[in-house]
Amino acid sequence: MACNDKVGSKFSKGNSMIKAVIFDLFGTLTKGFAYPELDIIKEYNLNVDELAVEKFTCGTKFEDVGYNYVGKIIHSIRFKSMGSYLSSIINGLNLEDTKDTREKIVSIFEKDVKKERIAESVPKVLIDLKSRGIKLAIVSNIPYPLYDLPKKHDFKKYFDAVVYSYEEGMLKPNPKMFEFALSRLGVKKDEVIMVGDNFKADIQGAENVGIKGILLDRNNKHPDYRNRITNLTEIKDLL
Ligand SMILES: [Mg+2]
Repeated sequence: MACNDKVGSKFSKGNSMIKAVIFDLFGTLTKGFAYPELDIIKEYNLNVDELAVEKFTCGTKFEDVGYNYVGKIIHSIRFKSMGSYLSSIINGLNLEDTKDTREKIVSIFEKDVKKERIAESVPKVLIDLKSRGIKLAIVSNIPYPLYDLPKKHDFKKYFDAVVYSYEEGMLKPNPKMFEFALSRLGVKKDEVIMVGDNFKADIQGAENVGIKGILLDRNNKHPDYRNRITNLTEIKDLL
């Protein structure tokens, strides 16, 4: 989809039908630059072409973070332990399975996750929405187990439903990811909005199941897109 496409119907403000807001996590509730796939590729001099890094969209090569081969491994497979998680990555990339390899990959993740921080406005926005009786959910493509920033920063308590790719064994834009959220929230598709920063995963994903997608466009990259906010604090104007 071209980024300037005006997909979706025009969103009317002051929509009192909205009972819940679903948030993407990375780049939406967080800010930063976590991209372990790239760090692993760099560390092991892997052939990026062979890994079929998808053509990135919308002029930003980070738009599709999580959809290359490494990303699929680390975001969407269910693992019983950190050990089996690492085995899958190591086998998937044909690396030599040694103690050193395992330690190196763990250290890449640990270093990488430190680049992500919770966006400043998040606590206030969540508290405000909760005080209006709005239910909240997260639907995220998230690699097990180090990236659960809501848990780490103690704000998971604000959410009525959390749908994580590594727990479900699938990635957004799989419609099931959004359907899980609807069912766990106990709301219908027209009673909820999805706020995210990724066209493919968040906006198209949500709209494919009939949920209104709201693009968080912090850097004003898509001024022509209809259903757009540039700051999370604008959500209150949509309800
Ligand atoms: Mg995101």
